Amino acid sequence: MFERTDLEELTAFEGKHPVVSLYLNLPSHLRATPDGYRARLKTLLRQVQDRASGADLSAIEQFFEAEFDWVGRSVAVFSGEADGLWRAHPFSVPLRSYVHVGEKPFIMPLADLMETYGSCVVALVNHQSMKLYHIQLGEISTSETISGDEVRNLSATGGSRQDGTVRGSSPSTHNREIVKANWRVFADALDGFARQSKATALLLAGSEETVVQFKEMLASQWRTRLHGMFTASMMTADKDIREQALAKLQEHQKAVQIELVDSIRAAAARAANGIVGAADTLEALHSGRVHTLALVEGLQTPGYRCTGCGFVTTVASDSCQFCGNTLAAIPNVAEYAVRQVVDQGGTVEFLEAGTPLDQVDGMAALLRY
Ligand SMILES: [Zn+2]
Repeated sequence: MFERTDLEELTAFEGKHPVVSLYLNLPSHLRATPDGYRARLKTLLRQVQDRASGADLSAIEQFFEAEFDWVGRSVAVFSGEADGLWRAHPFSVPLRSYVHVGEKPFIMPLADLMETYGSCVVALVNHQSMKLYHIQLGEISTSETISGDEVRNLSATGGSRQDGTVRGSSPSTHNREIVKANWRVFADALDGFARQSKATALLLAGSEETVVQFKEMLASQWRTRLHGMFTASMMTADKDIREQALAKLQEHQKAVQIELVDSIRAAAARAANGIVGAADTLEALHSGRVHTLALVEGLQTPGYRCTGCGFVTTVASDSCQFCGNTLAAIPNVAEYAVRQVVDQGGTVEFLEAGTPLDQVDGMAALLRY
């Protein structure tokens, strides 16, 4: 399993030659036709064939032809042959397909992956038991079941409320107290389990009514890390719990990204620290002002690059607005933008198509100042 130490190792890597970082998503609808994956791989490698070393490209091709079993939801490969770097990590969670050539391994998508799917606890709750799952990067690593006191016939006695016979000692009130006491025990157990798992995200599962009520029993730090709720029963198979959990985590990540785009747009509208659209974002990048670059995944925007200062733009012009040198046509400004942000120590958020980012050339940024 990919660990944080693997990420740290890649971050710390210092070589003298360019490194190829390749991410390949393996969508399940293409599972039956691995040729679809291979076609995608070829397209990615072609994008960098003029910049990557032949040794790295053939090492990657060789890996996919001879070693890789095409199992899992995605794979990340890092190759810096000249400096002895080779890493290949398959994942059970999706990654956006992307290729990058740069001085250092491009690890931002992995850092995102750790943030979204790294360590999540699912608590499946009903009135008298709770099942806890620790899901690490899409795999269930541990689970345990906690049983509370037995609740008798809660649904049968629940009806007595309507006929006005409920007293402090009635069976239904008694049962509700048992449930409450059970949930208090479960909330404590959940706290201990989640701390031990170093969980950064929590999901609740059960009947709709139960999860809504149980949520109120949680310590505030887990309520703020609650990334979603879904319907399940104690009979639900582990693999279905896992699938539903991953779908919820993905949904949560998408919501966070849409929020990012919204806040960039709001800041841009106030002429504050946000900028939208390719032309303005690229200009801000050139002056080193970009903190977070939001980019639609797979964005292909042709443009120009200054032969003098390296300024990248989508706007045709006879000479560079910064240094006066001539501009040369480039196939994709997005690729240069990512490299610039990384060199400047900023971050990149890749967004799926279908967010408000599409309306602003697929490119926007949160600025440092
Ligand atoms: Zn220039």
